[in-house]
Amino acid sequence: MNSIDKIKKKALEEHIPIIMDDTLEVVGKILEDNRPNKMLEIGTAVGYSAIRFSRYLNDNGFIDTIERDKERVEEARQNIKDLNLEEKIHIYEGDALEILPTLIGPYDVVFIDAAKGKYPIFLSEALRMLNNNGIIIADNVLYKGYVMSDYNKHKQRTAVRGLREFLKNLNENENLTTEIIEVGDGLAISRKK
Ligand code: SAH
Ligand code: MG
Repeated sequence: MNSIDKIKKKALEEHIPIIMDDTLEVVGKILEDNRPNKMLEIGTAVGYSAIRFSRYLNDNGFIDTIERDKERVEEARQNIKDLNLEEKIHIYEGDALEILPTLIGPYDVVFIDAAKGKYPIFLSEALRMLNNNGIIIADNVLYKGYVMSDYNKHKQRTAVRGLREFLKNLNENENLTTEIIEVGDGLAISRKK
């Protein structure tokens, strides 16, 4: 088993919600077509998706990625080091709500994959830093069907509310064209017009 597959296996065993294979395939195609120079990821976990994305970067391209869980940051740093990707993947440790306002960008692609209840805030920060022709990709936007159903009497209520607002904001944004794809847990792909 190669190193990336080992990272994937361990993450799955530990129930870390890493990007699903079908989602990765769709995102990979988009990245392949666009070859980003600068990419931003919100929600690193153990670095799995950033490592997968890094092969699609332009020659001097890099990914800035944000994670607030200390243990995951440590594991991600180790994984990135083991794969010699330290020059391509920069981790920012801390709450994205605090780190995002300190970043300037601009970014060619932003991948949103952290706290679902905060997606509307992540979106406005992503829009602030998005290049012309930039793309915002958001994972888990259908959230196991909860977003589309009336049933939200559970602890996922904040997530569902956040995701609904996020999708509404995308829809109403006249500067973006958005498609929602039913891979994994739902993937939103928004491009600047
Ligand atoms: N993108 C990863 C998976 C990310 S899972 C992959 O596909 O491999 C979501 C991660 O977001 C978790 O590790 C969680 O700790 C982190 N997270 C959630 N809310 C956050 C916030 N407000 N700021 C920073 N990280 C956050
Ligand atoms: Mg996800």
